[in-house]
Amino acid sequence: MDADALLARLPRTHYIDGAWTDDETSLAVENPATGRTLTHVADASPEVAMAALDAAVAAQASWAATEPRVRGELLRAAYERIVERADEFATVMTLEMGKPLAEARGEVTYGAEFFRWFAEEAVRVHGRYAVAPLGGSRLVTTKQPVGPVLAITPWNFPLAMGTRKIGPALAAGCTVVLKPASQTPLTSLLLAEVLHEVGVPAGVVNVFTTSRSGATTGPLLADPRLRKLTFTGSTEVGRSLLEQASANILRTSMELGGNAPFVVLPSADVGRAVEGAALAKMRNIGEACTSANRFIVHRSVAEEFTAGLAARLGAMTVGDGLAAGTEVGPLINADALANVTALVEEAVADGARLVTGGGRADDAGEGHFMRPTVLADVDPGSRVVREEIFGPVAPVLVYDDVDEAIALANDTEFGLIGYVFGENLGEAVRVAEALQTGMVGLNSGVVSNPAAPFGGVKASGLGREGGFEGIEEYLETKYIGLSL
Ligand code: NAP
Repeated sequence: MDADALLARLPRTHYIDGAWTDDETSLAVENPATGRTLTHVADASPEVAMAALDAAVAAQASWAATEPRVRGELLRAAYERIVERADEFATVMTLEMGKPLAEARGEVTYGAEFFRWFAEEAVRVHGRYAVAPLGGSRLVTTKQPVGPVLAITPWNFPLAMGTRKIGPALAAGCTVVLKPASQTPLTSLLLAEVLHEVGVPAGVVNVFTTSRSGATTGPLLADPRLRKLTFTGSTEVGRSLLEQASANILRTSMELGGNAPFVVLPSADVGRAVEGAALAKMRNIGEACTSANRFIVHRSVAEEFTAGLAARLGAMTVGDGLAAGTEVGPLINADALANVTALVEEAVADGARLVTGGGRADDAGEGHFMRPTVLADVDPGSRVVREEIFGPVAPVLVYDDVDEAIALANDTEFGLIGYVFGENLGEAVRVAEALQTGMVGLNSGVVSNPAAPFGGVKASGLGREGGFEGIEEYLETKYIGLSL
């Protein structure tokens, strides 16, 4: 696909009330593989954001009253259109976010699937009819859409984080205002174009792009017409948004940061564990909330596992995501590269041993490239273990007994996902059950699936996205007491 021609025809202004605004385009979008500006998009003011909420509020009643089958068929049509335009979506994501094209294509499949899944769920929203325990009255429950939703998404999965929110919201009968991350606005604008093309009515989905996230979303959160906030991003920003959401007692879904433990049991098939580790660590350049952050490995297999992982990661090709053969793209920006390299340097200063990698990949180009890195003998108190790395760095910690591994794994404020590798299924299940996380990959380095409930516990968030649970986040239960 010709990237320049694609960039030239992409929408670059807000999509509000079914129309593209004529706002000035002044927010620069960078290509992290070159460090240069790709293009500019519109930079919303608080007034523009409020216009998006006005449109969502105006469309709410008629969208809620639209037949579930019609809502589902619009989502299904959008799913098909995204698949038809997969090359465009993938190229845009690689350009603005940096992930290798093959991974971007994977995200198109994954992201589109949320629309197909929730197209099917739109017609399966049920209530119940029951006889009261003491007889006489009847207890009737029905589900109603929560109301207008503000969705705030991060830059790391520019398509899927949007569809994972818009899919269930639309299926449930809610209208949406979407504010994507300022680093990756283009994918969301392309998504708005698809929703427009397939005939989603005006006002049902509104997208604004901005460099002033707090100034634009704050007034929306303070407006009593907004009824729900769904956020994916850092725990720090999530905490502040929860505080703001408390003013109007908003329904909230929070998909926040992670610090995933990857536990290798003594019974592990080491080759399988290394493959799982490479996937869990390197997917999305390590810039995933599900990325394995700490490798907690039994002493009996630690040497073999560490050497295997270092060989696997050290052999990966780092470069521009658009280039054939690239397995590891650039980090999102210069700050991210500086932060991740500082974590490695500090760990080494704390006594860790650099097994492979360790710094900027100078030969990969001018962008924010980092060499895949494996650290051994890491101090459990090091920042690289305590904090979410969000980059291609794998710190290995060694344990002697399984209870110690569980304690190490749970010694974090986060609780999104954990990974367990072991061929002794009884032991592996025991560890999986003991992990204080919302999700576990058991002998599996990837768990994300639109048909499964994604989400965390502790500081990793509230609520679930995907699965049968996902639509519930956008529904209220109404009870009607019926006297006979
Ligand atoms: P972030 O800085 O929290 O930003 C996320 C979104 O919030 C962006 O749209 C950002 O806009 C916006 N934002 C920032 N400050 C805000 C404020 N004061 N008020 C309103 N909105 C604000 O996170 P990120 O760096 O983009 O993403 C990385 C984080 O997301 C990681 O911690 C990762 O674990 C987490 N994540 C979690 C999941 C999950 O499902 N649990 C999935 C993916 C990512 P700007 O771009 O304008 O700053």
